[in-house]
Amino acid sequence: MLFGQLTRLVQPLFRRSFHISPKLNQAMGIDGNNILAESLKKQGIEYVFGIVGIPVIETSLAFQAAGIKYVGMRNEQAACYAAQAIGYLTGKPGVCLVVSGPGLLHCIGGMANAQVNCWPLVVIAGSCPEDHEGIGGFQEYPQVEASRMYCKYAARPPSARLIPLHVEKAVRYASVGRPGVAYLDMPATLLTAEVDEDKVPLDYYSPEPVRLAHPDPLLVEQAADLLSKAERPLIIVGKGAAYGKAEKVLCKLVENTKIPFLPTPMGKGVVPDASPACVSAARTQALLRADALLLLGARLNWMLHFGQAPRFAPGVRVVQVDISPEEFHNSIKSEVAVHSDIKPFVEALNEKLAQKKFSLDSSSKWWQILNENQKKNTAFVEAQSNDKSVPLNYYAVFKTVQANIPKDSIIVSEGANTMDIGRGLLLNNKPRHRLDAGTFGTMGVGPGFAVAAAMWCRDYAPEKRVICVEGDSAFGFSGMEIETMFRYKLPVIIIIVNNNGIYSGFDKETMKDIQSGGDVAQCTPPTALSSEVRYEKMMEMFGVSGHICRTVEEIESAVKAAIAVTDRPSIINILISPQASRKPQTFNWLTESKL
Ligand code: ADP
Ligand code: MG
Repeated sequence: MLFGQLTRLVQPLFRRSFHISPKLNQAMGIDGNNILAESLKKQGIEYVFGIVGIPVIETSLAFQAAGIKYVGMRNEQAACYAAQAIGYLTGKPGVCLVVSGPGLLHCIGGMANAQVNCWPLVVIAGSCPEDHEGIGGFQEYPQVEASRMYCKYAARPPSARLIPLHVEKAVRYASVGRPGVAYLDMPATLLTAEVDEDKVPLDYYSPEPVRLAHPDPLLVEQAADLLSKAERPLIIVGKGAAYGKAEKVLCKLVENTKIPFLPTPMGKGVVPDASPACVSAARTQALLRADALLLLGARLNWMLHFGQAPRFAPGVRVVQVDISPEEFHNSIKSEVAVHSDIKPFVEALNEKLAQKKFSLDSSSKWWQILNENQKKNTAFVEAQSNDKSVPLNYYAVFKTVQANIPKDSIIVSEGANTMDIGRGLLLNNKPRHRLDAGTFGTMGVGPGFAVAAAMWCRDYAPEKRVICVEGDSAFGFSGMEIETMFRYKLPVIIIIVNNNGIYSGFDKETMKDIQSGGDVAQCTPPTALSSEVRYEKMMEMFGVSGHICRTVEEIESAVKAAIAVTDRPSIINILISPQASRKPQTFNWLTESKL
């Protein structure tokens, strides 16, 4: 259907008329919806994810008319996850468009996630007409105030004429420095306000990209000096290095210096997991024994055990590189703190270390320790992953999945054990190809992230696949986005590693026994979910079948069949042992409080 036909159909549904394009409506001027759409387009926004309703239906149509892609989702939180993932993947913020009141409030969990992950995002919410404020307007809520805690910038443009200025500012705040969230509040009265087109500065400042922050050469010198004198140096590659597109220079650094590196969960793939310098399999010992750290776009937060004992050697010397100097010396003091974008810093460091002809000897004591530890840990994982007994364990599942998926796939992953164990076995050899629960440890992000990743693949890498590996509990948070994937023909492969619960669950018989023990809400274990839920049957809503697997062979054939499907999502539901767990750890995964 032509866009004109569609708007003729939709238009009578609304009280106020709206204008599809400023060009069609020059005599009468341009309204807030179209000013907003044209301004976003001008700032290079390509994707909007959202859920429409009063007062933003016309807004979404104006976006499409302006040449912006709009993806309608099933829950505002998932829409917000999708918008921030596209921001991380492209470096340009995605927009999340939602309705007033509850629409925005549902989105706030997503805003917090983006802000904590340092990912660029612009949220735009409709709000009640200004003349209904204070008298109980429909879905009236103090939206700018409510957003402020989760944002770098939150504002309501004071007039339609000023929308372009605030859009530029929102996109700029979201993108530059440490990326984060910007919020724009759009009352219904502002969206429908009409202005003479020639009074609107639609051409308002379309900025040149901000130049990368370059490091102080003296600090590069000090960093090179510290690293080259260390006996046991270690590079930590964080998602800031991934976002900063530092892959080429970092691969060169690792190749030239043979310094071992550890990726953080989403730093995986900046330097390939397959690189011989990747010491993920000896993570505990690498952290514990390193005498010098090169911290590239990663914070010393809970994920890196605050950089402190007992997980790190006391007195470890740190070179910290970050785009955000506020981050320096958090938790432990960095000896060399460099305010710089990762890419130019590593470029300069490469030069300095080459001048020093620095390279670690692969037969050094340090490499020997790391190699021994890698061997020991790999032996355990191999034994587990070769154990094909049914019900399967996690390791056997991931080994089979890894063997059968394309090696350049984007892997989305969430769940407790599913995400943690999967991290070691599902490999990434490309940057920004891993999306997971992140710094905020958020469950429910997977399907939204996968929608965004699949949209990006379709536009920029059509051969690439998105594999969304979900725990059964994690899938439950946003599982209905399967309909979004179906509607937009996104061939996401959803793999549910189903253990009947959060962390672990129970088999059918045991669950029956437990639940017969008294009041069902008092005796059902809070971590339990129903046993052997047939999540794959959700595909039957669309008249096609999903896959249920109990064995390695069934997983192999299901993954192959799903890869052959290229115009819709697939669900592979893998029933594993409800008591399957991970390798015993030397330390608790969450560093204990010292209070
Ligand atoms: P991880 O979870 O991988 O450890 P974090 O989210 O903790 O990563 O840290 C990412 C860090 O990277 C943040 O402190 C952020 O300020 C920084 N950062 C983001 N982009 C860049 C960039 N282009 N150059 C340098 N640092 C960056
Ligand atoms: Mg589970």
